[in-house]
Amino acid sequence: SETTAKPRVAVVSSPGMGHIIPLLELAKRLAADHGCHVSFLNITTQASAAQTKLLNSTEFPPNFHVINLPEVDVSKLIPPDSQIMTRLSIIVQESFRCLKSVLLDIGKPDALIIDLFSSHAFEVCKELSIPVYSFDTASTTLLSLSLYLLTLDKEIDSDIEFVNLPEPIRVPGCTPIRTEDLLDQVRKRKSEECKWYLLHISRISMAAGVLLNTWEDLEPVTLKAIRENPYYHNKASIVTPPIYTVGPLIKETEPITESGNECLAWLDSQPPDSVVFVALGSGGTVTSEQLNEIAWGLEMSGQRFVWVVRAPTEFDASGTFFNVGGDINDPKSFLPDGFMERTKEVGYVVSSWAPQSAVLRHRSTGAFLSHCGWNSILESLSQGVPMIAWPLYAEQKMNATILVEEVGVAVKLAVDLRKGIVTREEIERAVSLVINNGGNDDDDEEEEEEERNLGKVLRLKARKLKVSAETALRKDGGSSYDSLTQLTNDLMISRISS
Ligand code: UDP
Repeated sequence: SETTAKPRVAVVSSPGMGHIIPLLELAKRLAADHGCHVSFLNITTQASAAQTKLLNSTEFPPNFHVINLPEVDVSKLIPPDSQIMTRLSIIVQESFRCLKSVLLDIGKPDALIIDLFSSHAFEVCKELSIPVYSFDTASTTLLSLSLYLLTLDKEIDSDIEFVNLPEPIRVPGCTPIRTEDLLDQVRKRKSEECKWYLLHISRISMAAGVLLNTWEDLEPVTLKAIRENPYYHNKASIVTPPIYTVGPLIKETEPITESGNECLAWLDSQPPDSVVFVALGSGGTVTSEQLNEIAWGLEMSGQRFVWVVRAPTEFDASGTFFNVGGDINDPKSFLPDGFMERTKEVGYVVSSWAPQSAVLRHRSTGAFLSHCGWNSILESLSQGVPMIAWPLYAEQKMNATILVEEVGVAVKLAVDLRKGIVTREEIERAVSLVINNGGNDDDDEEEEEEERNLGKVLRLKARKLKVSAETALRKDGGSSYDSLTQLTNDLMISRISS
């Protein structure tokens, strides 16, 4: 009957694997575990092989469907030098020209769940009286900072950049954020990137609720602060919409390619906790000089590794954001001469895209050298794998700082400011430190001892978080599982009362 029928929910994500992956996971769980009828609206872009595979999985629950929105031609709308936020926002806005009719076609769902960059949906859904929930795929720290930036944006003269403020940014109730850690999008306030970003953030006030891919024990202080403190926008005091902590939502299963299976088979034959996994997200690319340093650093460390290698790009640290895994390159052609040959006993090079969560889940994986995208962090912590933090773009510097200074599960790689790169020595140092299989005898025993201990401390902390993440997701009383139950109930109540 109308009162007991499970909610019908539509879910939509902006393009980019870092958002599609967690929204898809949320959608699947709402269907499989909470009985919702779910339509996943896919914004069709020049999708990568990895994305196509993910959305054509044969393992979706029966009450779950993917609906492809018609592809839009944005070539004339996006200025050629536009960056990620601007591109994404325009693609979404154009794709949503059909949103109203799609929502009506599927019989007006009880709610639409969107990601941060799909905020154009608020306008469409208002017309249809469909409640919109915003699923924030990043940290609570980023959300609380971003909401606070709305205030700063009004209060601080627009000629003064946030990054030049003399003091760290003090969001009420939160750990101060160093200005150098601020996300790329807000570094130039007059840029299109910043305008789009703050527009998306300002629309969160229209959400019926905010879902966060985190859990209560990972970010307790920030969660408390964001729930208790209002923020300000256009001089109005705004109470943050109800927060549902639903994470860590990471890929439980993923379609694995032949090369992915080979990589996992290679891991099968390595000792426990002995391999460092090197992967810089879906977008991450480095220059050829930097690629060279990584190769030498790994080789010099003598440690076992799995390394996801992509063609170098000279100007853009998020070079494969829109088309990861699209071009399968031959890594040999841009690695140092003889590298593959010399490291074939200890190393495994993957071209372009690896089954990351399966690699992190593997018992042989002992450390993760990561660009610190939020999904990568959640995947690593869920498997108890300590990290080496190498933030590249977006909000990753903040994430790296949280991991090192608050959570205590990572070491940060230092960038050699003179050369503008992370040197091979630095990579060698960090990898050996975190993998920590005893190290070699050295004169400086005390320092070695301390480093050895640090490796152990990080691993121990990561293991604890793994347990805490598992607890949050348990179907008998886990806080994140209960949040989704609560959301399902709230949707049923709001349907009845509307
Ligand atoms: N990923 C993967 N294989 C790769 C690179 C990335 O499966 O070779 C997945 C990874 O597991 C994660 C997502 O892509 O789920 C990347 O999201 P994240 O938030 O870490 O970074 P982004 O790509 O958004 O910068």
